[in-house]
Amino acid sequence: MATVLDIAKRNPNAAPVAVSDAARAAGFIEKTAEVTVAAGAAPGGASLVGLTRDQLKDSLAAIGVPEREFKMRVAQLWHWIYFRGARDFSEMTNVGKELRAKLAAAYTLARPQVVSEQVSKDGTRKWLIRMPSTGPLDKGAEIECVYIPEVDRGTLCVSSQVGCTLTCSFCHTGTQRLVRNLTSAEIVAQLIVARDSIGDWPDATPPEGAFVPTDGGRFVSNIVFMGMGEPLYNIGDVIAAIDVMSDGEGLTLSRRRITVSTSGVVPQMERLGAEANTMLAISLHAVRDELRDELVPINRKYDIKQLLDACRAYPGLSNARRITFEYVMLKGVNDSDADARELVRLLKGIPAKINLIPFNPWPGSKYECSDWERIERFSEIVYRAGYASPVRTPRGRDILAACGQLKSETEKLRARARMMAEQGIGAEGVYAVGNGE
Ligand code: SAH
Ligand code: SF4
Repeated sequence: MATVLDIAKRNPNAAPVAVSDAARAAGFIEKTAEVTVAAGAAPGGASLVGLTRDQLKDSLAAIGVPEREFKMRVAQLWHWIYFRGARDFSEMTNVGKELRAKLAAAYTLARPQVVSEQVSKDGTRKWLIRMPSTGPLDKGAEIECVYIPEVDRGTLCVSSQVGCTLTCSFCHTGTQRLVRNLTSAEIVAQLIVARDSIGDWPDATPPEGAFVPTDGGRFVSNIVFMGMGEPLYNIGDVIAAIDVMSDGEGLTLSRRRITVSTSGVVPQMERLGAEANTMLAISLHAVRDELRDELVPINRKYDIKQLLDACRAYPGLSNARRITFEYVMLKGVNDSDADARELVRLLKGIPAKINLIPFNPWPGSKYECSDWERIERFSEIVYRAGYASPVRTPRGRDILAACGQLKSETEKLRARARMMAEQGIGAEGVYAVGNGE
């Protein structure tokens, strides 16, 4: 199995960023995944945190718990892990001592490692999370996860993949070479890590001075799959993770407060609606195929017409359950009055919300964000046509936590190592750091 380490060793002078630039120049829609992990595997093999009910059942069977007890035991573990946030089997007071000892001997309730936590001056938090190693050569994949608190809600932006195989030209994650799918447990674990950090469990309190919602609701009340990765390229594990997150006896997030954002993987959209029943967001960003082919290259596979037809057919669509169309505002590229009018025309008949996202620049990006007056004018045209068109306030810009800026530290370090190698500075050592050795 290829790993972070392998990639660096195979070709220590490889230029991770340049590879995707080359891919773009050559017109490739996708990069290939470098690492695969068995779907549904527990992170690290031994933690029960993040597992589905079926996976918990298998874990119990593996330590000899009789089948007739499965239902009761799974319910107990579920309550302690997902309702109370237990970190130690000794807390599970309604589980007999003997079984607790057996569980503790075989498993843990470990969370993935929080490598760093950054807190923005606006209260946004970004965590760099290292997943447990999946094999002897894997030092653990790293992903980013962002918490955006508001007065009446707390939104967690989760990742579905390490990096992304797609290569949208304005997205930092798209330049990341290292790609693998996250397991459902690894996706759920992001919510657990967030709730640990902000004290969102029945007996916990938020850290001193933390900004959390004050409306009496959950600190994490909403989930958006808008972190790293294309969720519909990992749909099985994304659906399994949503099942765990929305389970009424555990984490209890409402499916209507979970939004999955896709760049337009048309063949998987119906399955998402039918099985996950969540809200849907579409990264539209352009109203003409020619431009969308460039900005969101998956458009070359599934064009705007196919995408909008799939939206019209999205299960459960109604005026109360609208699709959000995301539109990143790129100066002089997609932000004219004519673009706004065409957007309105295209969406006619689809229960829709339009979300204008000011472009968030990242080091080396080739676009600029539209001027504020331009965004207002665009928004007004959309508003006059009857759409609420909130402009998404960029959050956490000071910690590079805003939409499309996520890229794991491992990658950044590797890019830095490449620069140093090019300058003839001892790269070996940096590789060692960058790959967690
Ligand atoms: N892969 C999925 C979800 C993750 S990206 C998707 O593309 O929908 C979440 C949102 O951020 C998408 O709408 C994406 O197009 C947008 N985005 C990416 N890079 C951005 C940037 N630099 N500035 C603003 N939005 C960006
Ligand atoms: Fe991937 Fe979404 Fe970024 Fe495109 S915008 S590269 S699909 S994460």
